[in-house]
Amino acid sequence: MVIGERPADDLAALQRRAAERAAARAGGADRLQGHIVCEGLVRIFKTEDVEVVALQGLELTVDRGDLLAVVGASGSGKSTLLSILSGLDTPTAGLARVAGHDLLGMSARGRLHYHRQTVGFVRQQATQNLLPYLTAAENVELPIQLAGRGRHRQRRERARELLELVGIGPVADRRPDRLSGGEVQRCAVAVALANDPEVLFADEPTGELDEANAAEVFGALQTVNAELGVTVVVVTHDHAVVDQVRRTVAIRDGRIASEVRRTGAAAAAEYAVLDRSGRMQLPAGFVAALSLRDRVRLNLQPDHVQVRPAQERGND
Ligand code: ADP
Ligand code: MG
Repeated sequence: MVIGERPADDLAALQRRAAERAAARAGGADRLQGHIVCEGLVRIFKTEDVEVVALQGLELTVDRGDLLAVVGASGSGKSTLLSILSGLDTPTAGLARVAGHDLLGMSARGRLHYHRQTVGFVRQQATQNLLPYLTAAENVELPIQLAGRGRHRQRRERARELLELVGIGPVADRRPDRLSGGEVQRCAVAVALANDPEVLFADEPTGELDEANAAEVFGALQTVNAELGVTVVVVTHDHAVVDQVRRTVAIRDGRIASEVRRTGAAAAAEYAVLDRSGRMQLPAGFVAALSLRDRVRLNLQPDHVQVRPAQERGND
């Protein structure tokens, strides 16, 4: 693993570096597209007498080396999406492909192998990410050992490198109960990277942390994205994060409802997502501002589409 100099403190520089590293991993800058692809992804949970449609035809494409933030109200389907993409859960219908693996056609055994080798996963509950009786370094070495990779010295070196990368090299020999909340989650990021995954998923990794600790953990995710070229998908409630990533998607009712893309230092543009059937969701604020409901009038203009409230019944 190559760990270079720390990147400039600037979003554009981080992104450029992530793209370079990702291209090096993929064997060319033309091979970055569609590292994660979801088409019409559906997940229905059936219990005794109710069916919950957690994902209803979700469409999403993430390129290799991207750092994507996923936001959305509680219950909107964020964890369901991450569980499917990381091989912990199986979709009901649709297409989901990650790093060339088809997640619908996979056997249970294939899925377990995929979960262990291809992805890294960081949970919100810090205690679920680390073993309490092992030091930070031993926690990182463990998955490498379980995968039967590397000799003792190589595992130790890799653990040290990863802990340095996420900024907690100096506390490598401490057990979790002697680490701060931010250090525990940064260690969890190092554990998730131990087997050199293609994609790193983090489900509200900063959900239990204060602002300062959350910023450290998010900084670590940015660093591993930029330095290793790993594709990162992070679910967050923290709206400060949205200013720090190139792309944020918002999930509403099990679908991607809108997307913010940040192109340069300051400019950010918000997009609505249009699915294959031409469906899109208007932002709630727009709907409220014009009291839109039930039906709207659409007018095609040479370069845009107008949406107007339907007129009173009778002249509509
Ligand atoms: P989020 O992470 O955005 O808060 P989830 O993906 O956890 O949302 O949940 C989406 C919806 O699916 C919710 O209505 C939730 O109650 C339901 N759900 C999630 N997991 C299960 C499950 N194992 N069984 C039944 N319903 C579930
Ligand atoms: Mg969740």
